[in-house]
Amino acid sequence: MSCIFCKIVDGSIPSTAIYEDDLCYAFADIHPQAPEHILIVPREHIASMADCVQSERSLLGHLLWAAAEIAQGKQLAKGYRVVINTGEDGGQTVEHLHLHLLGGRSLSWPPG
Ligand code: AMP
Ligand code: ZN
Repeated sequence: MSCIFCKIVDGSIPSTAIYEDDLCYAFADIHPQAPEHILIVPREHIASMADCVQSERSLLGHLLWAAAEIAQGKQLAKGYRVVINTGEDGGQTVEHLHLHLLGGRSLSWPPG
């Protein structure tokens, strides 16, 4: 398996751990776009949001729950953003489903 995020999950590529449980792992983005920029990934390899199947519905919910838990721990009381880039037009560059949790500054809208 050549997937970089699978290697981060199994520890063969180093990362800065933020949160983990039996279903997901969260770590600091290597090129942060905000004071807090955390990636949340399922431990199992799923290529993208577009590749999710019905049996993964609860896992998708769990990833959102994890994002909210992490945000609460980071005291992002002024708000934050959760982003799932999907596919070419969505700007996805790593083909392992991941949530970006961004916070610590005011984020503009609409995105580019
Ligand atoms: P995306 O463009 O949505 O696929 O996001 C991929 C993200 O992975 C980018 O924000 C990258 O900065 C981040 N990234 C790539 N390699 C690493 C790594 N080794 N450790 C942490 N973050 C990474
Ligand atoms: Zn993977």
